[in-house]
Amino acid sequence: MNYEADKIRLIMTLRREGITDTRVLSAMERVPREMFLAPDLADKAYDNVALPIGHGQTISQPMVVAAMTVKLDVDKRMKLLEIGTGSGYQTAILAPLCRRIYTMERNRNLMREAEVRFKSLRLSNVVTWLGDGYRGWPEQAPFDGIIVTAAAPELPMSLVEQLTVGGRMVIPIGAEGDDQELVCITRTDDGFERESMFAVRFVPLVTDRRIVAGGS
Ligand code: SAH
Repeated sequence: MNYEADKIRLIMTLRREGITDTRVLSAMERVPREMFLAPDLADKAYDNVALPIGHGQTISQPMVVAAMTVKLDVDKRMKLLEIGTGSGYQTAILAPLCRRIYTMERNRNLMREAEVRFKSLRLSNVVTWLGDGYRGWPEQAPFDGIIVTAAAPELPMSLVEQLTVGGRMVIPIGAEGDDQELVCITRTDDGFERESMFAVRFVPLVTDRRIVAGGS
């Protein structure tokens, strides 16, 4: 199947919705979203919608991926942390824009599938860890940017503490199913600033330390 026409339509939608950052738009144009989906969903790859990726999880809506990426304000010198690898799509959008991205996922099957995709896309600056992202990755901290792609019930201070001063974290906050809000946290010398972005709906960030083999 040829996705070119669908792809152009999606990029036009993103532009219309206010995404003007050309580096982000070209990353969205280059990364084959169909690769991150089961074959029976591939024909919807360039629809501006979230889609199921198995294990009760979802690949985020392209507009949300684009807006979160823009807000992080990434450059090639930055070291990033991502919580919730999922399909790996958001990771693949960020990887070419930064120096290195550390990505954490608690579901073993999803992580395995994502690692296969990173390999076939030759994303050599992606480092994966099967673990509880709620605690972050203290051994690799601090990070110039953190992106969380599952909703936390409240702001995880463990992650705020792993940001460099001036670094940003984009994270959905809110209870499961309720209205969640995407927020941008900027670490300052003596604390942090919090800016609201827009309402979103993400799967929950699980706050226990279990690693799951699949199924949940
Ligand atoms: N960014 C992904 C979407 C991820 S969905 C994509 O582009 O496809 C959210 C993911 O967060 C799920 O895969 C879920 O298993 C994972 N997750 C939830 N809680 C977590 C935690 N505490 N630590 C690590 N990963 C977590």
